[in-house]
Amino acid sequence: MKILLSNDDGYQAPGIVALYDAIKDLGEVEVVAPEHNNSAKSNALTLHSPLYVHLAGNGFRYVNGTPADCVHVALTGLLGYRPDLVVSGINNGANMGDDTIYSGTVGAAMEGYLFGIPAIAFSQTQKGWSHIDAAARKARELVQQVIAQRDEGAAPWLLNVNIPNVPFEELKPFKVCRLGRRHAAEKVISQPSPHGDMMYWIGGAGPAKDDAEGTDFHATAQGHVSVTPLKVDLTDHQGLQQWSLRFANRAGN
Ligand code: MN
Repeated sequence: MKILLSNDDGYQAPGIVALYDAIKDLGEVEVVAPEHNNSAKSNALTLHSPLYVHLAGNGFRYVNGTPADCVHVALTGLLGYRPDLVVSGINNGANMGDDTIYSGTVGAAMEGYLFGIPAIAFSQTQKGWSHIDAAARKARELVQQVIAQRDEGAAPWLLNVNIPNVPFEELKPFKVCRLGRRHAAEKVISQPSPHGDMMYWIGGAGPAKDDAEGTDFHATAQGHVSVTPLKVDLTDHQGLQQWSLRFANRAGN
């Protein structure tokens, strides 16, 4: 079993160190992760400057790029083999609902998925790394399960997992659920710079808007570990017919 491990918080983040320690005996685990914090970089690739890969003292490799860069470079030449699984995280904070669009943690896993490799993105629901060893132990359970249920001929899949920051004994079972929705993000924060320009800080994510039963927000609020299978097709399948009609009517005028 060959596992590629990445994240978006950077190769020195407690989340990736804990996850590596928790799964390193489940196969050959290679870490290729960003040098610096690349949260909210989604699927971005670096096209206009070169990427460099360095080897840290602990064996992790780090890249001066985005999470997707790390997985992309690993899969297209750096590793020299095709891993069986791509794992990302554990992220410092939730990636639920609309977060998944922006998340670099999900972006790294999604890059593996787009290359046809099963992939899992792990996040803790609260920032600050409390109970990170419990989260890593729970993540190990899921990785073990997907290894045991592995089907080489099956289509690739992408799982988004959020783990509450509680002691291991207090974690309730995995719950498969859909993404919820958030309200629009908080307002941008603006302030004049010492040089007279206006500076802007992007505001925080909005609070949950759809946290009904069956969502990731609901499951994690109840203490469960949420597991949401994701897909990448952005087509509005319900809108296809409506738009076809609109263009057909336009042609007839
Ligand atoms: Mn992050």
